[in-house]
Amino acid sequence: MVERGELSARHIAAVVERLGRLTRSLQQSHGIKPAQWEALRYLARANDFSRSPGALAAFLGSTRGTVSQTLITLERKGLIVRRTNPRDRRSTSLELTAAGRELVAADPLTELEAAARDLPEAARETLADGLMAFMRTVQRRNDFRTFGICPSCRFLETRDDGYRCGLSGEALAPADASLICHVHDPRAA
Ligand code: SF4
Repeated sequence: MVERGELSARHIAAVVERLGRLTRSLQQSHGIKPAQWEALRYLARANDFSRSPGALAAFLGSTRGTVSQTLITLERKGLIVRRTNPRDRRSTSLELTAAGRELVAADPLTELEAAARDLPEAARETLADGLMAFMRTVQRRNDFRTFGICPSCRFLETRDDGYRCGLSGEALAPADASLICHVHDPRAA
């Protein structure tokens, strides 16, 4: 006899796997493959020092070679450009072009947001908290980098004149604080 807790754990794993498939299927859109959508979405949401090919590969859990092929295709389609990183002139920063930003605005995964909005508010909040806790657990157990945004990062410092990143020493505008960061380190719960 399988215990109830064990059944719930299997059910969660099955639902997450099924959602992953549905998500990939939704992303077959505008002639863009799921991996290309994922790269575009990341570049639209990542902060200045996280838009490198290496950070993108880590975020996607892909090899640099696979990501390199994705980036070549996106460049050919005129959706991204590579620039020298102003913080480190030896490295590359990836930027969306106007066409890339326009495409991201038509992201097929907004369908998931619409579906989430259909849930009652209390169920939505419980689900959001539960999913975040589950993702962090999977990341911790597998030594995946967390990525994340400033409010949940241990390096965020609150000063009288606003927010600052304790790692880079830079002031953070509210808009910067909501962008994905590749050196994010979750604050202890
Ligand atoms: S506070 Fe954390 S998440 Fe924000 S920029 Fe600094 S390292 Fe990145």
